Amino acid sequence: MGLLSVILIFVFGVSIWNASELRMAMNRSTRSYLNDVTTNLSRDIQEAIHNKMNSLIMVADSVMRMGIPENETSIRDFLARKAEILEFDPLILLDRKGDYVCSEEVSRDMDPERFFGISSVRSSFDGEVRAGYMGGESIFYSVPVYGMDGTVSGVLVGVRSKKNMQSMIASKSFNGQMLSCIVDSRGQVVISPSELKPFLRLDDIFRSDKEQKVVGDIRKMQDDMRMGKDGILEFSAVTGEELFLSYNSLDLNDWFLLTIIPAGIISGDANRYILQTFFIIGILIVIFFLFLNAMYRFYHSHRMQLERLAFVDSLTGGANQAAFGLRYRELAGSMKPGGYTIAVMDVRHFKMINERFGIHEGNQVLAYLYHVMERHMRAEDGEFVARSESDCFFLCLKGGGHQEIRDRMDDMVQDINSFCNPDLPGYTFSFRQGACVVEEPGLEIAILQDRARLASQSRNPDLESGCVFYDDSLTVELKMEEELNGLFQGSIENHDFQVYLQPKVGLESRALEGAEALVRWIHPKRGVIYPSNFIPLFERNGKICKLDIYVFTEVCRIISRWEEEGKEIIPVSVNLSRQHFTDEDFLDRFADIAGQYHIPAGMIEFELTESIFFDSHQIQRVRDAIQRMHELGFACSLDDFGSGFSSLGLLKEFDVDSIKMDRSFFLNMSGPKAREVIACLVDLAKRLKVKTVAEGIEDWDTVEYLKSIGCNMVQGYVFSKPLPADAFERLHISWTGSIECNINP
Ligand code: C2E
Ligand code: CA
Ligand code: CA
Repeated sequence: MGLLSVILIFVFGVSIWNASELRMAMNRSTRSYLNDVTTNLSRDIQEAIHNKMNSLIMVADSVMRMGIPENETSIRDFLARKAEILEFDPLILLDRKGDYVCSEEVSRDMDPERFFGISSVRSSFDGEVRAGYMGGESIFYSVPVYGMDGTVSGVLVGVRSKKNMQSMIASKSFNGQMLSCIVDSRGQVVISPSELKPFLRLDDIFRSDKEQKVVGDIRKMQDDMRMGKDGILEFSAVTGEELFLSYNSLDLNDWFLLTIIPAGIISGDANRYILQTFFIIGILIVIFFLFLNAMYRFYHSHRMQLERLAFVDSLTGGANQAAFGLRYRELAGSMKPGGYTIAVMDVRHFKMINERFGIHEGNQVLAYLYHVMERHMRAEDGEFVARSESDCFFLCLKGGGHQEIRDRMDDMVQDINSFCNPDLPGYTFSFRQGACVVEEPGLEIAILQDRARLASQSRNPDLESGCVFYDDSLTVELKMEEELNGLFQGSIENHDFQVYLQPKVGLESRALEGAEALVRWIHPKRGVIYPSNFIPLFERNGKICKLDIYVFTEVCRIISRWEEEGKEIIPVSVNLSRQHFTDEDFLDRFADIAGQYHIPAGMIEFELTESIFFDSHQIQRVRDAIQRMHELGFACSLDDFGSGFSSLGLLKEFDVDSIKMDRSFFLNMSGPKAREVIACLVDLAKRLKVKTVAEGIEDWDTVEYLKSIGCNMVQGYVFSKPLPADAFERLHISWTGSIECNINP
């Protein structure tokens, strides 16, 4: 806009300069035009005077032949005739004796005898042809009249009246607005024009000494006139009118033709056109300005709209990812290392809300979440929040203290869950929370967001709550995870995953009553990789389902081989990740595989980790799945009981065949209460006809105690670590013969 204004001002300036140049050029051409006109006019006048003179000379010639003054009447008649034809008023014949003959009766102020006293007339008696004037009223020509003897016998005077002369000098040009008169070199008027006023003013000019320039010009004009030179001068009249004054020598006496022309006559139209042009340019500029202004407003509002579109999340009406990045960049300039934290809050199971209540309600929930979080932002500290995509919110919080940030995020979650929605009875939101303290404010916001997100995903997403902070080890972890992810498919194909079996020993029978299949990743280059290093990763990215199928298939193969080889078949349990439950018909695949290997019913048990039973969204699915497992001939056990919530209610709610008491149960067995709890649990399970398996048992005392309270089975290092299938088989064979020695070494 500013640049355009400069351009417009420049254009305007150039137009003004151009117009003034045009004016000057016109002035010059006016002058030269005027010069042409007045030169022609003066030439015409000269010619006319010359013609009159010649005519007079011819009349004088005729008079000479008629003789003077003997034949006075005939001469008067002759003169009267000639005067009429040649437009003299009158023609007077003077003789040396002081007599005269006049062509007509004349008024009193035109006394023919006056001519005898006029010096130019007298010089005509000496043979000269002369012209003269009388008080600006008339001019006269005097020519000698020769007698028969060749001497001047008289003088013929031809008077040209003022009227006659005026019509001669009156120009037809410029609608008569041009005024001319004849003056002598001293400025004395020889013939005044019919309209005298400008010349009266001209007299003022001749006398004036007001304006320095005019005075100089006048002086030059007077000098020119004395020297018989032509010229033009420009001056302004008292009325302010610009006038040109042209002076042209008439080559007669010291007479000059003076012509006055208003400057506007010639350049008037052009001036008007220049003004019009200015006016049009002005209007165009104004229109252009208005147009630009309208364009600017349009552009501005359009930009605002685009900005709104670009930076506003239409769903929440608040900031979006782009706005978050922009505001962060603004803030980063003044940020101290460790002064701010980028945090992420990712709603868990948001899909369920959409599924249960519909997209519209889901969107309202997101808007609600955004506004609660926004309320918690301290704008004065430069804090802000944005929804980045679907159910993921990013926050930029002041401070870098882990506990402080955790507390604030907990407050937000609490505030969010303080709502009371009749459609969502008892529903509480939980979030995956991650944060990254900004140690290098110059880092790209995308990197900081990735780190916060990475931190939020670094824990088992469904188990743990609270904010996880990013540190560099997470990056190492991430790199390792990436590597493992990359290796996964190849290892499935190469059978790098091996199934290890860990015995479950019946405490009553003291027999090897079962086994748990545990996967080991034995990579040709990386060596042995333990489940804790890859199971959580594959649970997050869904690869676990493929792995579970793989393990299940291997287990089927082992059992089928045992059958083929006539070995005793014992039930083997396989771990089933909760990820399978997202697919309603997942059991069909397992059933198909088991069918392919003709696995007898009850020989495979699925272990479902305890946490899955607390997932309120999946409860029904889990219940249905357990029922289906039974229908398909699989047993089902509740794994890791006691590692988390340990609700006894689960036993009555779910139709599981056994529970596996987690290792953590037995870590502190010294107190009587702990033992009592285990005894009660075992007792309860027995009443509900649910078998009990104690897991992770490492010492004989516990084995003895468990046996004493009626626990069914023990799985633990006390008997054996997980073993490769062939080692397990060898143990199995040896076991049958020396059970006592195993249990009671
Ligand atoms: P889990 O199902 O609870 O398996 C028992 C874990 O306890 C196994 O660890 C086992 O080696 C270990 N353990 C057994 N006896 C003792 C003992 O006396 N002392 C100690 N300290 N540990 C003992 P592992 O094999 O490392 O497996 C860890 C977890 O990985 C398993 O926990 C299970 O949740 C998961 N997992 C292993 N294989 C698979 C699989 O094929 N599929 C799925 N979904 N998860 C698996
Ligand atoms: Ca297990
Ligand atoms: Ca377990």
